[in-house]
Amino acid sequence: MKVAILRTKNRNDSISIGALVIQDELTREGIAVAYCDYQTAHNFTHVLVSMTSTLDVFDIYANCRAANWQTRRFTAFVGGFGCQNPMALAPYFDFAFFGRVDGIISDYLRHPEKYSQHSFHFSNPHPVQLRQVTQCYPHTVIYGKNSVRWKEKIIGCPFRCKFCHYSHSRKYVGDGSFMNDQISASAEVMLKDIPAMDHKPGRITTALDGYSERLRFLYGKRITWDMVEEAMDFLASFKGNTFLKLYNITNFPTETDTDCEEFHQFWKQYTTSTIKADGRVVVDVYNTAFRPSLNTPMERCEATLFPEARCLPNKTYIAEQNGFAIKFTHNTKGAWSHLEDLISIRYTDPSVIEYIATNQQFSKLNNKEKLEQFNKMFDISPYIRSYTETEQLNYKVFTT
Ligand code: SF4
Repeated sequence: MKVAILRTKNRNDSISIGALVIQDELTREGIAVAYCDYQTAHNFTHVLVSMTSTLDVFDIYANCRAANWQTRRFTAFVGGFGCQNPMALAPYFDFAFFGRVDGIISDYLRHPEKYSQHSFHFSNPHPVQLRQVTQCYPHTVIYGKNSVRWKEKIIGCPFRCKFCHYSHSRKYVGDGSFMNDQISASAEVMLKDIPAMDHKPGRITTALDGYSERLRFLYGKRITWDMVEEAMDFLASFKGNTFLKLYNITNFPTETDTDCEEFHQFWKQYTTSTIKADGRVVVDVYNTAFRPSLNTPMERCEATLFPEARCLPNKTYIAEQNGFAIKFTHNTKGAWSHLEDLISIRYTDPSVIEYIATNQQFSKLNNKEKLEQFNKMFDISPYIRSYTETEQLNYKVFTT
């Protein structure tokens, strides 16, 4: 076997952690693993491609086509967390693996048919189940330009929010908390765990995911305003500045202006009434629109793409007083990237994927004129609607 992992262009030629784990396991078993690009892939017998995000499908599609992967003599494998519905990649790949492949990778590469329960053969499509593991990968891998030593501490998430691929696609392994401070300058931590931190990093990333308690509890994210208050009190009690990146989901089904108002009122009241210690606490709210993943209870729910996610213009302060600054950072890609995302998850129609992959029009559609021009070329109206539970995809990959 001559095995290579593809450096994907849309990720700055980087190798995902998942791919590094696979490389590590193969190397430990005496199988050399090289890196390749779309052209040099033709020099190998087995080429492995990791999808980090579902959006990777557009870039992979365009590059595989340009590098003639449809005439390949190697066996092409795709997998990874973003590999949710890769049907459009059928001309360029032989197998797609769903779930965790660590523990079996070398045998899988030699005998992919043996693993048909989790491995999807593009020339003979059939529903598959996600493969799960019961323990974290036991070895350390070296990640990124800064050669960070990364060791897996958690898989999945115990909370099972009704829209979240992260918890529904990976069986949870961990101790009930989540803290990822290994590869990013900003420590990722669950909001409920902030008050229990033994130190306060300068930069923290967490998620609220819903303007109101009603929305959060409806969709499984059980965070009360009291919990937010407790987390903020903890951050404010330290000397020195804190930058909190707070992810929030907007455009949930049933969301109204009242939900949005509850969010604004909370921050105004909190920053008015709290007693702040030294330092400044800046909360940057990153709004993204609701995009339910496949294989979750909400996978067929209506996703409203327009109007764009409810948020104020760039860097608008919701509240700024008593040492706190709460502001929105506008998602400049807005609804267009959400539409790309929805198409990459729910639709596998190669002609749509190809259109986006080769024209890359969506991200450029930032004004009315361009939008009208675009609408003449490609009618998006069939995609902006409700999706019933029973509606057929052109292929449903998962079984549960
Ligand atoms: S949205 Fe966050 S808290 Fe909810 S299941 Fe997903 S990762 Fe867990």
